[in-house]
Amino acid sequence: LFKDRDTWSGSPESISYRPGKGPFIALLALSAVATAGAGIFLWVVPTIGLGNIHPWLPYVFGAVLLGGALFVLLSAAFIALAAFKGSFVFYSPWFHTLLVKLFLPMMVMAGGLLRIERIKIERAFIDLNNQMVLKMGRRFRPEKLLILMPHCIQYDECKIKVTRNVRNCAGCGRCEVGDLRAISEEYGVDLFISTGGTVARRKVYEKRPDAVIAVACERDLTSGLQDAYPLPVYAIVNERPHGYCMETGVSIDAVRAALATMMEGPTAAASG
Ligand code: SF4
Repeated sequence: LFKDRDTWSGSPESISYRPGKGPFIALLALSAVATAGAGIFLWVVPTIGLGNIHPWLPYVFGAVLLGGALFVLLSAAFIALAAFKGSFVFYSPWFHTLLVKLFLPMMVMAGGLLRIERIKIERAFIDLNNQMVLKMGRRFRPEKLLILMPHCIQYDECKIKVTRNVRNCAGCGRCEVGDLRAISEEYGVDLFISTGGTVARRKVYEKRPDAVIAVACERDLTSGLQDAYPLPVYAIVNERPHGYCMETGVSIDAVRAALATMMEGPTAAASG
């Protein structure tokens, strides 16, 4: 279950990349078992610790922990069902909040204790977040959407400054900035190439978009999603043929598919 089982169907018409969610679901289930164990311990051994303060206290804490364990177990089942079906059964804002604010930090901590690669948990979380964003069923006006790209996507020896204005790109084809610029013009969606997380956050703060399509590595996407929440962010993991932060790439099909799925209007329909 802790093995990563990523799948990629390769269809450009749909958002079809599916990282394995086994580690995330298994860690949630284990957390539920551990919490239930703590609850049962408090319930069965009431005289220790809390029982000295008030005789009812172990039962209260035990009941709370058992209730929490049951909730986490149900959440794991909800996520497992989404992993099986390829989408959540329904959209729940509070579950989305729990996923971002509680389950992700919990899973990263539990994964650290069990020595599970953080990147596997981040990939699963990113995909679950994307499924939640899509399940919202909202469409956004092009001018209220923002595409965020990291600066490392640019060809390393290109001297053109695209971080200030992406329209400076000459479209020479040495990197994907030219294609992305073309997409941005075709769809009428703002494209911003950021030199770092702080600059990206400032851009989001200034533009105040209704939704973001962000491309970056797993770590940056995960922290960005947490910071931006509750702003809907559809996250696309970058390609790294030369390693991190160096001439990275992105699937142009994935960006087009994200736009076609999230954008309202006839352009979206035409591109689907
Ligand atoms: S596509 Fe644009 S950004 Fe990339 S190398 Fe060519 S001119 Fe520079």
